[in-house]
Amino acid sequence: MFTANEYIKVKSFDEAYELNQKRTNKIVAGNMMLRLSHRKLNKAIDLSGLEADYILETESEFKIGCMCTLRDLEKNEAFAKCFGPDISEALGHIVGVQFRNSATVGGSIFGRFGFSDVLTYFLVLDTYVNLYKDGIVPLSEYAASDYDNDVIMEIIVNKDGRKAYYESFRLTDTDFPVISAAVGVHKKGRFFAIGARPAKARVIYADYSEFPEKLSPNEIASLAEYVSESFNYGTNIRAGAGYRKHIAKVLTERLLKKTGCEKP
Ligand SMILES: Cc1cc2nc3c(=O)[nH]c(=O)nc-3n(C[C@H](O)[C@H](O)[C@H](O)COP(=O)(O)OP(=O)(O)OC[C@H]3O[C@@H](n4cnc5c(N)ncnc54)[C@H](O)[C@@H]3O)c2cc1C
Repeated sequence: MFTANEYIKVKSFDEAYELNQKRTNKIVAGNMMLRLSHRKLNKAIDLSGLEADYILETESEFKIGCMCTLRDLEKNEAFAKCFGPDISEALGHIVGVQFRNSATVGGSIFGRFGFSDVLTYFLVLDTYVNLYKDGIVPLSEYAASDYDNDVIMEIIVNKDGRKAYYESFRLTDTDFPVISAAVGVHKKGRFFAIGARPAKARVIYADYSEFPEKLSPNEIASLAEYVSESFNYGTNIRAGAGYRKHIAKVLTERLLKKTGCEKP
């Protein structure tokens, strides 16, 4: 567990940002990852007083406050109705209910963890990160960027008609994924994200002019092959690179079938 000289429950994002500019200070969100570190902090910056745990739906988008817990998002009916029920598949294997009642969306996105189900899922939707200093940036850009001292205020997901489908493969149910895969189905084409390779998830796009909406079983297999070939894979304690690539193809094939893209 880390130690801190001072604990500050901030009253605004301005105050949080100001304090977060010092490297010895650190934002504390759900504290599920941070508590595993042994750092000596000067100030622990608590965001829990900012009423940033909301999920707001407007006509054009969903706004998810940085302090929204993974569990609240997993159980949100309006979100599932808009983007499909697989949000619970994406989040539901992360450790356990009590854990997900604390871990936050902001902490998960900031972490850009190489094993992240959260990042893999959101990358196939039209997702943006609303940062205190840098403003609204696409998640794909944020995911590829280096860690800095900006503060995530909220995540924005545009309602552009996309549905997200999600699968992960784990050695045991609540372990980190060996591989995670998501497909976002849009009116013009499909977005594919593969994560836990074990590297930060990335997203690619395949237009319907290349791979049409309705696919034969052979075409599904070749699209899944194309997707799995588009990413690099590594080896760690959980699996080898070749195995990960194979599972990425299998999961993508399953996801494509789940989206109902097969020719009748
Ligand atoms: C044992 C364990 C198993 C896990 N398994 C999985 C898994 O299988 N799949 C998965 O996707 N995830 C997994 N996670 C990650 C987890 O889901 C959360 O992403 C993680 O705990 C961070 O969220 P938090 O709210 O706890 O953040 P914290 O631990 O409070 O903070 C994490 C980092 O984010 C920074 N931060 C937090 N909020 C903000 C903000 N608003 N703006 C800027 N910086 C911020 C903090 O300063 C800190 O550096 C696991 C974590 C643990 C500890």
